[in-house]
Amino acid sequence: MTTTAPDPAAPLVFDTAELGRSSGTTMHVALEVPAPAGLGLAGYAVPESSPLDVDVHLTAVSEGVLADGEVGAVAEGECARCLAPVQDALRVQVQELYAYEGSVTDATTEADEILRLSGDLLDLEPAVRDALVLAMPVTPLCRPDCPGLCADCGVPWDELPDDHVHETVDPRWAGLDKLRLADTDGESK
Ligand SMILES: [Zn+2]
Ligand SMILES: [Zn+2]
Repeated sequence: MTTTAPDPAAPLVFDTAELGRSSGTTMHVALEVPAPAGLGLAGYAVPESSPLDVDVHLTAVSEGVLADGEVGAVAEGECARCLAPVQDALRVQVQELYAYEGSVTDATTEADEILRLSGDLLDLEPAVRDALVLAMPVTPLCRPDCPGLCADCGVPWDELPDDHVHETVDPRWAGLDKLRLADTDGESK
């Protein structure tokens, strides 16, 4: 984990100085910001710079600042079965404690267990990233019953007639089939 200070100009970095570290004091952050890069996985993610709808309360508690609220975004990707474009509106809960530097929590937890404030700056990005990625499907689908692609020609089943089949009989076996048929005919008589 990097220990670089958050960029105060970054869209998801908020200055909590106005809370004065006074427990119970709260500020409401409700705004739309451009999504940072990397909100998701290869093939399914919130596109960078697309709108991220942030609605959180930042509340001073004894050990730090609690970020509590919701984040909305539109994730884009492709269907794992038919490769059609997929678009999902995601709305996730964010609830994360940011410990004050020098607090007991700061001293007794690892950096990857509890997030930290940097001075008065609170970087909401890791909390938003975790919440959104958790809400993303392991297998994105255009619809739950997507039939996928024909294994032989790769055309989506949705675009093929119900009776679509491929004649896969090898000519070398075709003759054998005739023999078998003749045998069967013979036995049945
Ligand atoms: Zn599909
Ligand atoms: Zn086919």
